[in-house]
Amino acid sequence: MNSAKPLIISSDASMLNIEKVRDDFPILKTKIGSKQLIYFDNAASSQVPKIVMDRMRRYQTTEHANINRAVHYLSETATAEYENSRHKIKKFINANKDEEIIFTSGTTDAINLVAHGYGRKFINHGDEIILTVLEHHSNIVPWQMLAKEKGAKIRVVPINNEGELLINEYKKLFNKNTKFVGVTHVSNAIGTINPIKQMIEYAHTQDVPVLVDGAQAAPHMKIDVKELDCDFYTFSGHKLCGPTGIGILYGKTDQLNRMNPFKGGGDMITSVTFKKTTFNKIPHKFEAGTPPIAAAIGFGAAIDYLSAIDLSIIEAYEQYLINYATERINTLPGVQIIGSATKKVAVLSFSITGIHPHDIGTLLNDEGIAVRTGHHCAQPVMDHFKVPATTRASFSFYNKIAEIDALISGIQKVQKVFL
Ligand SMILES: *Cc1c(COP(=O)(O)O)cnc(C)c1O
Repeated sequence: MNSAKPLIISSDASMLNIEKVRDDFPILKTKIGSKQLIYFDNAASSQVPKIVMDRMRRYQTTEHANINRAVHYLSETATAEYENSRHKIKKFINANKDEEIIFTSGTTDAINLVAHGYGRKFINHGDEIILTVLEHHSNIVPWQMLAKEKGAKIRVVPINNEGELLINEYKKLFNKNTKFVGVTHVSNAIGTINPIKQMIEYAHTQDVPVLVDGAQAAPHMKIDVKELDCDFYTFSGHKLCGPTGIGILYGKTDQLNRMNPFKGGGDMITSVTFKKTTFNKIPHKFEAGTPPIAAAIGFGAAIDYLSAIDLSIIEAYEQYLINYATERINTLPGVQIIGSATKKVAVLSFSITGIHPHDIGTLLNDEGIAVRTGHHCAQPVMDHFKVPATTRASFSFYNKIAEIDALISGIQKVQKVFL
């Protein structure tokens, strides 16, 4: 294939002023030795724009106090800003009500909340939970722990060689014992976008609720939980240009109300005596103790930042990046892309014949290029493709074509050293 073939830039993609966007992210100016940093580890954690750091600094400098407890100015301000953040996230994913958004420490924490609060109450001996081969360990292990405790069973939806779920096999897994479905919206390891709307629709015909792990979807496309009709949806702030330590669980009001609390403590109660404790309403029922207030407010600022750019423009631009990178990589002999779903986000997992991913990652780092090597917390996916690990370059809207060109040259250098 001719790598010089001109690529059509969609009109949406050209609407993104890439150099202006890059100026928003101070860390992108970092030098790795003498090389300019090229950050392609966005699926593990995205970078934080200055406007989010400034918002958190303003909170710490002029607004900080504990929330929900006092009538003084600072506490009221902190509470209002914390709740304002919840409201922004509610709008961002088109939830019905603010209280359907529960702040958690991240996706992992949110899934554990559902496994405990919902699973331990409603999943019993002999019941079955459907998961998929594409799940992150975060959406496997909490369910395995629950299944072991309860004597329940995990059933797994397989994938084809492109890395796409087999929907007919999914449907065949349902029976009268099926009580829950957990599915990732997008695979973190290979980028596949799953047909979750269709999967949710089918599960609901069987009266089975669905949790969607949206950690890799929310940063890259517009999410509408009303349209999806999922029972639960989760994502993490640090993959959405926000800080670490914060994420959300969206749950339908009815589901959240039926659930048991997971963590006990302050704020999640209305009254406590040694005889009897009554629990607070949602969302407070699930937010025991002092939350990461600064992180929640920073997350809200990140949501504002992404919304101002517009998720549909981000999506179009990132599709342009992944199409370009895929074309270029396909011209390199000895390089195989792992996962070639028709619908995927800008995640490029690959292997190079004869070279261990760890060595690829180390040599690319010498070029200033940050990629991830390993199993990406998704060992079942690696097992399917019979590889122990891959090299993963995951792009964000602040990445640019010149950086992908540098990755291609980097890979060629690696091959020269090793082959
Ligand atoms: C990153 C990720 C998680 C875990 O998120 P944390 O922020 O580490 O809790 C879960 N699922 C997917 C698909 C992920 O990419």
